[in-house]
Amino acid sequence: MTYSVSRILFAPHALLPDGWARDVLLQWDERGSLTAVDAGAKPPPGARRATGPLLPGMPNLHSHAFQRALAGLTEYSGDTEDSFWSWRSLMYRAASALTPEHLETIATALYVEMLETGYTSVCEFHYVHHDIDGRPYADDATLALALLRAAGRAGIAITLLPVLYQSSGFGAGPPTEGQRRFIRSTDSMLKLLERLKPVCAAQGARLGLAPHSLRAVPPDSLREALAGLDAIDATSPIHIHVAEQTGEVDACVAWSGQRPVQWLLDHAAVGARWCLIHATHMDDDEAHRAAASGAVAGLCPTTEANLGDGVFDASRWRAAQGRWGIGSDSHICVNAAEELMALEYGQRLLTRRRNVLAAAAQRFVATAMTLEAVAGGAQASARPIAGLAVGQQADWVMLDASHHLLAGLPSPDAMLSAHVFASHRQSAICEVAVAGTIRVNSGAHALGATAREGLVAARRG
Ligand SMILES: [Zn+2]
Repeated sequence: MTYSVSRILFAPHALLPDGWARDVLLQWDERGSLTAVDAGAKPPPGARRATGPLLPGMPNLHSHAFQRALAGLTEYSGDTEDSFWSWRSLMYRAASALTPEHLETIATALYVEMLETGYTSVCEFHYVHHDIDGRPYADDATLALALLRAAGRAGIAITLLPVLYQSSGFGAGPPTEGQRRFIRSTDSMLKLLERLKPVCAAQGARLGLAPHSLRAVPPDSLREALAGLDAIDATSPIHIHVAEQTGEVDACVAWSGQRPVQWLLDHAAVGARWCLIHATHMDDDEAHRAAASGAVAGLCPTTEANLGDGVFDASRWRAAQGRWGIGSDSHICVNAAEELMALEYGQRLLTRRRNVLAAAAQRFVATAMTLEAVAGGAQASARPIAGLAVGQQADWVMLDASHHLLAGLPSPDAMLSAHVFASHRQSAICEVAVAGTIRVNSGAHALGATAREGLVAARRG
């Protein structure tokens, strides 16, 4: 057997798509694609040895990068009852002042943090398009390019999802002043996608489209945008916010007589290319139909908790064989393990049971959740990042077996459980790689300190 010592890793314990395997030898090619994942192997001379359990890299399927700069600024009560909608006003204020330089700086720091906390790719749901006055930049792709550069600098894989945003409510309500930087015609969106296509291809980034929500995209525009997207790339991913708030459900029923997910399933060819972000408020029929469509539910547990959205019924979704992944959305929390913990804890509080998201084949709930979130996240990202398997990208997260919360535990399942439920904020991650390139070493990204200083400076304005 021939191999390059620089492109192999021997892991005594690795979490493969079917579960834990012993003595796994990983090999990848110069493009960072796994060419061999052999269990029960002997370490060849010179092979590097993992110092703890090896996990697949976690895709982050939902991000609005600029919102990271808002963390800490919205956790106080206002004059009226606080809700998603009062938070949104504060968020619009931050969006209205954002410069391309600040966006790039904030996104770089965010993507570095994502890597350090176990995410190896990100779906960027990008909706601030225009300048501070709401006019297109001389290069209409200015802010999208800032995000691509940030991902390139941090070394995170990216699926860029430019957002179509046209109206302020169901029934094509005119956009508000706070939405001026988001608004574009369907035509100008399709031109933007054409402009970005070669840039994304050159960087190895995936390009898709995100109709913001049924509130923000009237039916004709949705139809035209999806047809235009298919003409550009009929395999590209489609993400949409849907049924996040009960107020949104009520408004949709008042407008159309249907609930949002029901309306979407009846008026668009929802399938495996789709990611339904939140989908918190579905009835049984919507949940079963949406799961059967093959779409991924994009769950953002810490943001959904922070915004008071409600709790997604994950038991019903999984019983219907629904696929799902996790996103950090508003970035009130940037930590893949904490999202999984929040998801499971929400279900425990809802059902008054424990280990709700465990599976018959994976009794350890952290293991079951990790595998399902990686598979769903990969599908939503439309990239070959579905875990440690031949043909997938060599993305991994190595836990530190000497971390005080992991050391002495009897199995990699127990160590992963401690990582998810007990080690947050004192991360047990020691190494993270994307496409075979190590981005986080000894728990730290090489750009960490500089990127964080940049975030602080950008926040100060
Ligand atoms: Zn969102």
